[in-house]
Amino acid sequence: MKPATNDPLLRIRDLSVDYRTRRGVLHALRRVNMDVPRGGIVGLVGESGCGKSTLISAIVRLLPSNAEVSQGTVEFDGRDLLRLSEAEMRILRGRDISMIFQNPMETHNPVLSIGRQMIDIQYRDRITSAEKRRRAVAMLDRVGIPDPRTRMNSFAHELSGGMRQRIAIAMALMVEPKLLIADEPTTALDATLEVQIIHRLRELQESLHCAILFISHHLGVIAELCDHVVVMYAGEVVEEGSVRGIFHHARHPYTRKLLECDPGRIAGQSRNLPTIPGEIPDLIDLPQGCIFRNRCPAAFERCGNERPVWTGVADGHFSLCHLSESGG
Ligand code: ATP
Ligand code: SF4
Ligand code: MG
Repeated sequence: MKPATNDPLLRIRDLSVDYRTRRGVLHALRRVNMDVPRGGIVGLVGESGCGKSTLISAIVRLLPSNAEVSQGTVEFDGRDLLRLSEAEMRILRGRDISMIFQNPMETHNPVLSIGRQMIDIQYRDRITSAEKRRRAVAMLDRVGIPDPRTRMNSFAHELSGGMRQRIAIAMALMVEPKLLIADEPTTALDATLEVQIIHRLRELQESLHCAILFISHHLGVIAELCDHVVVMYAGEVVEEGSVRGIFHHARHPYTRKLLECDPGRIAGQSRNLPTIPGEIPDLIDLPQGCIFRNRCPAAFERCGNERPVWTGVADGHFSLCHLSESGG
């Protein structure tokens, strides 16, 4: 168990989630530990199927009906979210935790104008509609929408993908959440737009002081935006550290492989997570020992029968590998 940092906004401990499937129980998350500090930006990275969306759905309690949290806690601002009632959770989702999804079309209501939606989202605020409208226009301006007053009358289908994603960010930030969770929000955009949106998000985060949990396949974006990086593999956190620690001193062979395969990561050239030869193990019939051993170039005998333990390798930098335990 990693040492607790000073009063993080989000503290996840030993979180395990299973899915019931026809083939049997799929262990999608296993004893995940993660903190998001107040006002910090944490990047979550890992191959498709490693459990990123399952993790955020578990945090906001929107898991599908065949999923079950088998153990663990999700503490947000001192409250265990897994124990809140549905009603309490709904309030929290609209006020303290905002979400941005990969496809902004899903976020926007097709039959309401952008302005109507941005005014409606402020339903809890005891201010006049004129003031709500003014705030909405100001937020559209802040996310870089040209001529925001006119745009208030537009509908989602009239806008480009980049505009829609900016508006999704504006809507998510309108409520001034303590935590913004973004699941691959820029993956569908072209590279130039992605960079613009990331810069805008960083500026807004600095002025609103919200924390961000940011999921991306794009290592360049993670390096650009985040302070801290969590690397997941096959349902486990295998390494975490500062951006500098992960990008310049990666310790886990999985992280090293990701970085080796992606020379454009810092310049932001490569937009998808690189592919590593081999496959993620079957999460229904988990192998013994280290979860990465069938693909690990450094695997040795012990890796086949003994699970590695979470080991501190530098300040705030941890790795789940036998080699790190022995200082390698
Ligand atoms: P991606 O990068 O493709 O979005 P991810 O990291 O978000 O992937 P998840 O969608 O969380 O991964 O999936 C984790 C594992 O859980 C995968 O093995 C996936 O097949 C499985 N899984 C996800 N949703 C369900 C479900 N509703 N029922 C059964 N298994 C599921
Ligand atoms: Fe590779 Fe062994 Fe480390 Fe697992 S524990 S990542 S198999 S060296
Ligand atoms: Mg996902």
